[in-house]
Amino acid sequence: MSARSQAIVVVGASLAGVRAAEELRGEGFDGSITVVGDEVHAPYDRPPLSKQVLAGHWDIDRLPLTAGVDGGIDALDLEWRLGTLATGLDLDARQVILADAERLGFDGLVIATGATPRRLPGSEGLSGVHTLRTLDDCLAVRAEVDAGARRLVVVGAGFIGAEVAATCRTRGLDVTILEALPVPLGQALGEEMGSVLADLHRDHGVDVRLGTAVAGLDGGGDGRVERVRLADGAAIEADLVVVGIGVVPNTGWLEGSGLTLDDGVVCDATTLAAPGVVGAGDVARWPSRRFGELLRVEHWDNAIAMGAHAARRLLAWLDAEQANGGRASREPEPYDPVPWFWSDQYDRKIQLAGRSAGADEVRVVDGSTGERRFVALYRRGDRLVGALAMNRPRQLLAFQRLIDRGASWAEAIGSADPSARS
Ligand SMILES: Cc1cc2nc3c(=O)[nH]c(=O)nc-3n(C[C@H](O)[C@H](O)[C@H](O)COP(=O)(O)OP(=O)(O)OC[C@H]3O[C@@H](n4cnc5c(N)ncnc54)[C@H](O)[C@@H]3O)c2cc1C
Repeated sequence: MSARSQAIVVVGASLAGVRAAEELRGEGFDGSITVVGDEVHAPYDRPPLSKQVLAGHWDIDRLPLTAGVDGGIDALDLEWRLGTLATGLDLDARQVILADAERLGFDGLVIATGATPRRLPGSEGLSGVHTLRTLDDCLAVRAEVDAGARRLVVVGAGFIGAEVAATCRTRGLDVTILEALPVPLGQALGEEMGSVLADLHRDHGVDVRLGTAVAGLDGGGDGRVERVRLADGAAIEADLVVVGIGVVPNTGWLEGSGLTLDDGVVCDATTLAAPGVVGAGDVARWPSRRFGELLRVEHWDNAIAMGAHAARRLLAWLDAEQANGGRASREPEPYDPVPWFWSDQYDRKIQLAGRSAGADEVRVVDGSTGERRFVALYRRGDRLVGALAMNRPRQLLAFQRLIDRGASWAEAIGSADPSARS
């Protein structure tokens, strides 16, 4: 068990960081835990931002993260450094450097700094143009809708853009989705499934324009966005633009630290990024033995599971250190989950388990895409690697278990509806 004198610093005061801190305490770590986060808000949950909060159904007092212990997060005895940006990491000195040049020493470090939305070049300084990642982003978009915005253009048909489109369409706005690819999420989900998502929006009256690149945004004399110019010369009038063109992991503060940075902080299979340093959540990349690739997963469920795993990994490292390089009392285990994700759009719950990108085959095995109630399976070689479901949560879970077991394609097809076996 840990010595009281040990100090752990967690950078990133959100889902992965808080879950890591909770696990550290749950495993009996009684040293100091300092949580550094650049947002001023107490840690909160992001998925409702594009759903219930934007819809106006939830107040923000439902968002704060809680802990599964009596007394909640307060009972974890954490030292909070909110509104504080980490700007550097000195691995030799074992210190995190803060924006005001203060240095926080640590024995163990959890990197959980998440990701930041890509911006549309040329949109700087125009009001009415937003990304959606933080509570402040969400409140800014919601305020525009509450104030009477009528014409929303969503740039990018990924999950965040699609949820914003669905929520705002349900609130009665005229919505256009612009997507540069020929099919939304085509590379991730495959063409057929991407088309199903596009059609879902069209059925609800959204103008979905595919293969459409944005050339620029025009503002009026008041500096407010008025139209989106397209590469083909057309223009779409807009009084609100939400840009959802993906995120970049927040690793800028780690430049020059000696850690391997490559689309995230690269960890080993156990989440260790360097001796006494672990990574978790949207910022972290690790080699998945199950899928044979480096993964970086931007899912709520992964932030929780990886945060907890990384905390246990860090304690194993600290235990080994305390024993002067002796045998670790806890053997480090690889982190190798089946990633799982959900998205709510209109009255549909979309869920994805496992891996869908780069599949050799996609087959609908339950329900039908026409009814918008189905499960589609993804095959790589002779293995089941992924499952996508729309309004089929129970069935999705069954296939998720098969992926977890490493089931063959034949077994997965055999367990599905007989009509899907051909
Ligand atoms: C609008 C929205 C809807 C979503 N909906 C879903 C959904 O339906 N299903 C699903 O599975 N997932 C969803 N997600 C994804 C999910 O919320 C993320 O995967 C999860 O928040 C990742 O947690 P994290 O702790 O790794 O990173 P984050 O939540 O991004 O937290 C990282 C924190 O670190 C802070 N930080 C960054 N750099 C520094 C620094 N240098 N110093 C100090 N602090 C720093 C950031 O400001 C942030 O507060 C959604 C995300 C968003 C934004």
